[in-house]
Amino acid sequence: MALVPPPSLAAGNSYPVTATYRKTKNLPAVHSFFLLRGMTARKNTSIAVTHSSCIRAVSPLPHKSLRYAVLGAGFAGLSVVWHLLEHSPKEMNVSIDIFDEFGVGGGASGSSGGLLHPYSPKVKLLWRGAECWRESLRLLGIAEEAAAANGCLIKRRGILRPALSLKHLNILKDNAQNSLPSCRIEQIDQDDTRKPVPGLLVPLNLSFFMPEAISINPQLYLQSLFQACETEANRFHGRELRLHRKSINDLLELEGEFDDVIVCLGARATILPQLIGKLPLRTCRGVIAHLQLPQDIREDFLEDSPSILSDAWLAIKGKRDLHLGSTWEWNSNNYSNHVSMEETSKALEELLPKASGVYPGINSWTLAKAYAGLRAMPPLTVNGSLPLLGSIDHIIGDNRKCKFWLFGGLGARGLFYHAWLGKLLAQAVLFSNEDLLPSELTTWKKKNKVERQ
Ligand SMILES: Cc1cc2nc3c(=O)[nH]c(=O)nc-3n(C[C@H](O)[C@H](O)[C@H](O)COP(=O)(O)OP(=O)(O)OC[C@H]3O[C@@H](n4cnc5c(N)ncnc54)[C@H](O)[C@@H]3O)c2cc1C
Repeated sequence: MALVPPPSLAAGNSYPVTATYRKTKNLPAVHSFFLLRGMTARKNTSIAVTHSSCIRAVSPLPHKSLRYAVLGAGFAGLSVVWHLLEHSPKEMNVSIDIFDEFGVGGGASGSSGGLLHPYSPKVKLLWRGAECWRESLRLLGIAEEAAAANGCLIKRRGILRPALSLKHLNILKDNAQNSLPSCRIEQIDQDDTRKPVPGLLVPLNLSFFMPEAISINPQLYLQSLFQACETEANRFHGRELRLHRKSINDLLELEGEFDDVIVCLGARATILPQLIGKLPLRTCRGVIAHLQLPQDIREDFLEDSPSILSDAWLAIKGKRDLHLGSTWEWNSNNYSNHVSMEETSKALEELLPKASGVYPGINSWTLAKAYAGLRAMPPLTVNGSLPLLGSIDHIIGDNRKCKFWLFGGLGARGLFYHAWLGKLLAQAVLFSNEDLLPSELTTWKKKNKVERQ
């Protein structure tokens, strides 16, 4: 027998995804998701909806398999893949093909700083900070388990943000009041700030310390998450997961082969022929410098020193290794991770003075390598700069043989948003129901429509 989800699963503004989903997750016939989507999306059959908090049976389950194409193997793409697998009914044949020109982590995700915490630069709690933080930690844990042999992918020693200007001090203090219990913000003075990093300057004798914030190795994380997806796919008969190292240059080339195509191409979604000029995204290239401390110079950082946020950030990777980021080159169309000598010098000219404002010792460090990525920046809304999610059938054209979805615009906070939003999008895809997404993430579509009229 098949089941129907309760009306409470409809998202609106305050969709309690985790709570509701947990209630239904362990029921034996969760494959109703597929029946429901098959009926509503493909066969147009009406469905009886129960008002209980449970799901109720409506009709026999036809044998069906679903084929998903996920474009992009960065934070967005792999999160969607994981959640599609995790939430698919065990008895359903599910096949997922991932397409990525460069393989896992070939885009901005693999080049990111790997800093994760739920706050803005002025330590204001971000939109749905609790959910995003919790789900990111959960997905990191899943990858960490799969990666036992890959080495350490998470560094859990906090992030420190010294107050730099009097102008911002009160704002920072106010914002810090509203911190999450699971990611605290402690206000510490110069002496306490200097315990983990002796050479640090604290101009206003106050730093904001997030002891639970973390810094990860993004490449290792993505490889490990992919490994976790492979293991999850192999757990059940009838599931398939394939990674194709292939460039997709036209969405319609996938039509007919798949039930759903999910576009997770980061900044490059904007140059697909069907999407060009249709997404409210701006590109912004960022360069990061990997610096090392020469052996003959005494180190200031400990193995477990926190990372530092200031006008530039320092992600501490070890006693003699740090990543310094990042530049902001708006409207760039340079997608390459490669950084020329000229671009490297320019980036260092910009970043070193900013970093030395809090850590003068940076001037003794030498360049090991520079790398870059292109961010897809969404517009600013009353809730901050939120990623763009939802069906894009209205753009591709209705009456297509498959459904098209977008998970894009993760901006400068991809690590923070990818897990929870990837889960929401996977659920919307499984149910074939965009209304399961919080409206804040799909309002870009309404504005888009108005602009096109
Ligand atoms: C310098 C820098 C530092 C950053 N630091 C942080 C940080 O510390 N913390 C944080 O949370 N966020 C950070 N970000 C932001 C974060 O990296 C992004 O938000 C995130 O990577 C976006 O993920 P994505 O999966 O949407 O895109 P991507 O990671 O870019 O993934 C898209 C994938 O699609 C593939 N692809 C593209 N076009 C095609 C095509 N036509 N055919 C096939 N495959 C294709 C690419 O190869 C790529 O693997 C940083 C970004 C930059 C640039």
